[in-house]
Amino acid sequence: MARNRTRQNGNAAGWLLIIILIALIIGGYLWRQNGGSSPLPGDGAPPADETPADDGALDDDAPPTDDETPDDEPADEPEELTDIDGKVFSYLPVGDLLPSSGPGFVDETVYRENILFPTEDPVFLNSQVYRFGGGMGSVNGMEGSQCDARNYDYPWQDTFCEHRDRNQPLCPGGGHEGLDIRPHTCAKNVHWAVAVEDGRVIDIRRHWVTIQTPDGTIYNYLHLNMGELSVSEGQQVLRGDRIGKISNDFFKSDGTPVATTTHLHFEMYENYVESPGAEPLFTKVNPYMTLVAAYDRMLRGE
Ligand SMILES: [Zn+2]
Repeated sequence: MARNRTRQNGNAAGWLLIIILIALIIGGYLWRQNGGSSPLPGDGAPPADETPADDGALDDDAPPTDDETPDDEPADEPEELTDIDGKVFSYLPVGDLLPSSGPGFVDETVYRENILFPTEDPVFLNSQVYRFGGGMGSVNGMEGSQCDARNYDYPWQDTFCEHRDRNQPLCPGGGHEGLDIRPHTCAKNVHWAVAVEDGRVIDIRRHWVTIQTPDGTIYNYLHLNMGELSVSEGQQVLRGDRIGKISNDFFKSDGTPVATTTHLHFEMYENYVESPGAEPLFTKVNPYMTLVAAYDRMLRGE
């Protein structure tokens, strides 16, 4: 009995050795298949060239993907657009006004997809009233001169529905019916405003010029140097034609001058639709996102 048990133990040891050898052979094969390294957490991530491209150039929320991008491929990081002075263009969200300056009005609509920006040079959209040099600058601790360099910098800020004593159906209690655009520099009667589309000059009076496109959109340009306009009433204009130089002309109906800063006040009449299916209201809409898109094209040289 003792001899039999010994032989059985010997057989079992032999089988175990064979199983171990087979396991080693399979293990070695798999190790080579895996490039000679053991699997680590994270190796399941796709290679960099399969990472979805970030084509939203202005999407600041996009996660940085720089470290996954091969050097010889275009960067996936959000693109920075710079103006002719090397300043990086940025803008605050639509409807985000300076504190205590008004309710604002959020409208993300780009009303016209291919208009030209209404100035020839880089500009700064921000409040003429609630910033340096404005009558209400002290509200936010911004006392000083309208030529303060901080007025001539990014980010842009929306001023549609800023507090004004004006009826405007989209502004609760009335408000600023357009956007204020500070010219490239504080210099008056230097920087040109231009036609954003082909159209006709349908009205010139006091301190504004009105241009209408063949399909009905209306643009108002205010506070140009009215004594030296480049257009006359009834004239056809082409996209890019000079209209006048940005100034501070501002007159009451009786001709009395009103003090204001050097800026272009820009208005746009379009069909505003409050909700899908609602009756359109042809009124002064917020052109903020329309101008952001046009400026983006301008900085890209398009
Ligand atoms: Zn204005």
